[in-house]
Amino acid sequence: LGASRTLWELVERRAARTPDTPVLVQAAADPADDRTLTFGALRERAERVAAGLYGMGVRPGTVVAWQLPTRIETALLSFALARVGAVQSPVIPFYRDREVGFALRESGAEFFAVPGVWRGFDHALMARRLGAKGVFEAYEELPDADPSILPPPPSDGTSVRWIYWTSGTTSDPKGVLHTDRSLLAGGSCLAHALRLTPSDVGSMAFPYAHIAGPDYTVMLLLYGFPAVLFEHFALPDALDGYRRHGVTVAGGSTAFYSMFLAEQRKLPPGEKLIPTLRLLAGGGAPKPPEVYHAVVREMGCRLTHGYGMTEVPMITMGDPEDTAENLATTEGRPPAGMEIRVTGPDGRELPPGTDGEVRLRGEAVCRGYVDPAQSAAAFDADGFLITGDLGHLTGSGHLVLTGRAKDVIIRKGENISAKEIEDLLHRHPAVGDAAVVGLPDPARGERVCAVVEQRPGTPGLTLDAVTSYLRGEGLAPYKLPEQLEVVEALPRNETLRKVLKYKLRERFSPA
Ligand code: ATP
Ligand code: MG
Repeated sequence: LGASRTLWELVERRAARTPDTPVLVQAAADPADDRTLTFGALRERAERVAAGLYGMGVRPGTVVAWQLPTRIETALLSFALARVGAVQSPVIPFYRDREVGFALRESGAEFFAVPGVWRGFDHALMARRLGAKGVFEAYEELPDADPSILPPPPSDGTSVRWIYWTSGTTSDPKGVLHTDRSLLAGGSCLAHALRLTPSDVGSMAFPYAHIAGPDYTVMLLLYGFPAVLFEHFALPDALDGYRRHGVTVAGGSTAFYSMFLAEQRKLPPGEKLIPTLRLLAGGGAPKPPEVYHAVVREMGCRLTHGYGMTEVPMITMGDPEDTAENLATTEGRPPAGMEIRVTGPDGRELPPGTDGEVRLRGEAVCRGYVDPAQSAAAFDADGFLITGDLGHLTGSGHLVLTGRAKDVIIRKGENISAKEIEDLLHRHPAVGDAAVVGLPDPARGERVCAVVEQRPGTPGLTLDAVTSYLRGEGLAPYKLPEQLEVVEALPRNETLRKVLKYKLRERFSPA
């Protein structure tokens, strides 16, 4: 199956092999409403949807945007578009006028699929107000027609068929161009890295509209096992769903590990939160070593964490069999076919152990951006993608991330890594979560500001207490925070619940 050229080819091969095995299990708050889609039904139903879309005028290369919740129907629509050979642009369901308008304009979408009204918000109305063309609803009912009208499926995996939007953490979201081949490469690397087997049961805690959606589905298609998904991911219903369907591999990102951990801590010692769970696997945001150790100690499962971005959904992944030290402090190793170069300010490659900027080349790397100027700036002369992330490779080839170029705080000309301070803060017993940002400072250029969530029931945190703790941990005096903000909850995005540092800078900068 690994030799498939297109996503649709992979669907056909898997459906021929294990048609009756479930691929997606939609878990609902009421178990009676759970629904299952098999590999055979995925192929058959997606082909009917493809014919329906074709009947509406969708052709190979037609740009179709969709903003749909995490449901079986959404996966069917997405695979139907892959069957036709259209260019699809998934938009996160929580996005509103600004982001949706941007995505529609930049992608030049001719059609836009929406749920109608979802969670009280009228997506169809918004789409019409934004002047979107070809708006259609795809929630319960999907386009449908006899597949005999369809031309053959696309045979090349190298045309641009996907436009994904970056999280917009550092600036406006960028439209990232992917091919079937780059998504297949990402998904198969993920599957190998996690050492999965056909008897696993996965779970999707992220929106299907995130690039992890098809990436994860590729993994299911390769191995032939199902994943549980939720239209509304909310504890404790999600945990019930995990237990009901015997999830063995759960994941998402750092915020999810912490969420599970908090639930685990409510149980009597020895009782497992999800009895069948053997692996928590995720990525996409910094993972403090402290979180790794707490999960392994208290949840009785393994944890592997990886590095990915919209431009390259799978860059490195921790091997569940690796040492605790490597799993706690690194992002794992790159799979075969992924080249990592760490470079200095002049773009020259640095030796292992030396921090620099991370650059990537390989099959899973995107083609570029919708905006040609962004594409031109994104790749170096050797064709490596310049990520803007900082880190180094260890002697054993593991990647250690130390922060983002845009997150480096420059105080009196000295570079300070936010992540170094954050990792120390996470070890403080009264800190629930922490983010460190640089704020403009007339005298020093920038000053270090620590924003923390206080752990419930712990004594109030003060700047003095925090700096003396950090000093005691050996942090150099010039890196000590000069400002402390205690907040109820750090601002996060809706997809991987990543901390939005630009919001912190906006909120706490002097007026
Ligand atoms: P934008 O590019 O629009 O500013 P973004 O880069 O946050 O947003 P994504 O593509 O969702 O959008 O996120 C990718 C980024 O997330 C990476 O470039 C990296 O900075 C961060 N990231 C991903 N995985 C990890 C990880 N394991 N540890 C630390 N940071 C990570
Ligand atoms: Mg980015």
